[in-house]
Amino acid sequence: MSDATRVLVLNSGSSSVKYQLIDMADGSRPASGLVERIGESQGRIKHEPAHHAPRERYEAFPDHAAALGAVADELAADGLGLDSDRLAAIGHRAVHGGTRFTEPTLLTDEVVEALRELIPLAPLHNPANITGIEVARKLRPDLPQVAVFDTAFHATMPESAARYAIDRATADAYQVRRYGFHGTSHQYVSRRTAQLLGRSPEAVNVIVLHLGNGASASAVAGGRCVDTSMGLTPLEGLVMGTRSGDLDPAILLHLHRVGGMSVDEIDTLLNRRSGLLGLCGDNDMREIGRRTGEGDAEAKLAFDVYIHRLRKYVGAYYAVLGRVDAIVFTAGVGENSAEVREAAVTGLEALGIELDPVRNAVRGSAPRLISADSSRVAVAVVPTDEELEIAQQTFAVVRRTAG
Ligand code: AMP
Repeated sequence: MSDATRVLVLNSGSSSVKYQLIDMADGSRPASGLVERIGESQGRIKHEPAHHAPRERYEAFPDHAAALGAVADELAADGLGLDSDRLAAIGHRAVHGGTRFTEPTLLTDEVVEALRELIPLAPLHNPANITGIEVARKLRPDLPQVAVFDTAFHATMPESAARYAIDRATADAYQVRRYGFHGTSHQYVSRRTAQLLGRSPEAVNVIVLHLGNGASASAVAGGRCVDTSMGLTPLEGLVMGTRSGDLDPAILLHLHRVGGMSVDEIDTLLNRRSGLLGLCGDNDMREIGRRTGEGDAEAKLAFDVYIHRLRKYVGAYYAVLGRVDAIVFTAGVGENSAEVREAAVTGLEALGIELDPVRNAVRGSAPRLISADSSRVAVAVVPTDEELEIAQQTFAVVRRTAG
């Protein structure tokens, strides 16, 4: 077997690059880190090697090339450089694969060109992804590099769930359909939940609640996604930190016609100034919990709106799946907020869902059950690990290509 068992996972955002080096031979993580504020007068790189003290530097990173150059230097300083012959591949998180990319894909010039054609579907995310890919391919042109798409896991949704009920020709002309996001997380967490239950993914139906600053729910039947709450963009569905989630689409027309707001203003309102932040001025669930504890009515209402929407999706996906084996919570809020978990599933005993309050209150970083032994539906907390999922999918592509 080749010694090249390490995968560098890169997540290139508009002003940041997150990275993690994962060794597929033993699951170890020799290094991880983050470059922030790319393009600003002062940026920051935080590098955390497994066997040395973490390092932090403040300097300007004018563009992604400078940022990735700094990442390469930090890795090299620990003997983990991009030229290491133990590096098997680079796995890139890619946000939007459209209908074309439904599998992890080996990057070629042609694939990069096709990604560029998808920019109109994800104008905020895809350009940064592509820049990261281009810079990394320049740094190591000979190394296999793979794009793992946030939309891919949802490509199995039936047409009845993926179609919006609008004129078909218009929808098709502009690629308007439901794609879904957070796919690597939903995939990882649903599979890990099956493992926690001691069953194969094909044998279980799971509702996954990915509740972070962005939030989405999915219905996974036998390992395949059959519905998810985000749509053409990550704006649809649950109430999020700063995004509204579901709305009457005529609200946009109303704000434009009656409120005189421009398209860009409405975009900013719905994506950056709505959700929990719009309702109460805070988007952090910890702060909302603290304020609610002090009797703050705005914070309480924000929490209640958030929970009401979440429960609607739990009920909807119960009906979509018909039989539910597990409901699983993940991401920042899902993994940490016992209050949100409790509020999301209390009173659903008639659906076979019984939470164990003591198990729910225990904090931990391991996947765990929080339902009562008598609960017909398991309720679980499974910390997400999108980097590991990207590394595994990347490594599998490299193995297949080499073999
Ligand atoms: P993520 O996007 O998955 O990193 O999640 C970030 C969000 O998780 C934050 O905005 C908080 O709302 C939430 N969060 C993190 N830690 C906690 C905690 N201990 N209790 C409640 N919410 C938390």
